[in-house]
Amino acid sequence: MFTTAEITETPVMAGKRNQLVNELRQKGIVSEQVLQAIGKVPRQLFFPMDFEQFVYRDAPFPIGHGQTISQPYTVAFQTALLQLKTGDKVLEIGTGSGYQAAVLSAIGVQVYTVETVLPLLKDAIKVLKILDNDIKCFHGDGTMGLPAFAPYDAIVVTAGAPEVPASLVNQLKPGGRLVIPVGDKPDSQIMFRISKTPDGKIINESFGPFRFVPLKGKEGWSK
Ligand code: SAH
Repeated sequence: MFTTAEITETPVMAGKRNQLVNELRQKGIVSEQVLQAIGKVPRQLFFPMDFEQFVYRDAPFPIGHGQTISQPYTVAFQTALLQLKTGDKVLEIGTGSGYQAAVLSAIGVQVYTVETVLPLLKDAIKVLKILDNDIKCFHGDGTMGLPAFAPYDAIVVTAGAPEVPASLVNQLKPGGRLVIPVGDKPDSQIMFRISKTPDGKIINESFGPFRFVPLKGKEGWSK
């Protein structure tokens, strides 16, 4: 379902992406690190075919299997909250299209990403390969994290959770950050950042309302 014929970028696409970056700046994204990464990743690769006119709108879009590619503003907002440094080890829960993973990789961090819906993961892997990065993709229930490669400097959850999965907090390094939308309804959340201080204390901050598809799985919403 994903186009690979769009690898060659047109000046129109590049221009629209620049406009999107400016729009995100106007909407309050100040991290140059994040804006530069959004400016680098060709979002058209992660889009279903024949929907070119939607690629650089600041909106989510259906990618099949009832899932969506996140709105660019949301991708930028979550990525900025992660406060990343080059070389950090980052875990993403909810690969979806692979776009958020590609943005993380463009920042220069090591990306591990987990997805439950196998066909989506397979499509994402194909696209991510084209971009010549080293993103490690896994199939499974991300609410349990990815213990084999833990601990992580940062973890980002791109689906809405009923509560913060304990496994994810456990897999943070001291000094690490978990960014996760949490809400008591499957389609309405508040963005949280849970930080583990160097001496192991947990700090909780909240950053306003968002709307994600539900996080399923053992420590998510039941199927
Ligand atoms: N980061 C994605 C957004 C995808 S939407 C992007 O940039 O396109 C959220 C994704 O989370 C969906 O693909 C959904 O299938 C996946 N998901 C939901 N519950 C999950 C779980 N427990 N583990 C892993 N992925 C999950």
